[in-house]
Amino acid sequence: MTYNWCHGPNCHTERTQSRIRGSGDNKVLRTIKIKHDSNYRTHEQYQMFNYFCNQNCLMEYIRTHLQSIIAIAPRREALETPIKVEKTKYQDYRYKWDNVNGDKKEYYMATRTKILDNNNG
Ligand SMILES: [Zn+2]
Repeated sequence: MTYNWCHGPNCHTERTQSRIRGSGDNKVLRTIKIKHDSNYRTHEQYQMFNYFCNQNCLMEYIRTHLQSIIAIAPRREALETPIKVEKTKYQDYRYKWDNVNGDKKEYYMATRTKILDNNNG
């Protein structure tokens, strides 16, 4: 049977019953074992949990190794997605207060910006 040990750097310090191993006075808290048969995930979205027993262990791993992880695939330039933008004018209003008229509705032309879908742009 194949398995992974949880990669969380502090997994073995979490004080839970499921981590207790050993006998007599030689008890330890041990890193969680993720077996392929029970908790092993095949869906892409969950594959990270083949390597981490929970989100906390995942985040601690990222915090501990962030610079190394970033070095694998650094982003040195901004990416861009081509889009089409539609600007439409419409009438809007706001309330303007003055001593003579009090609160008065004031109309003005506003611009609405919409990012069009690829298929209708
Ligand atoms: Zn863990």
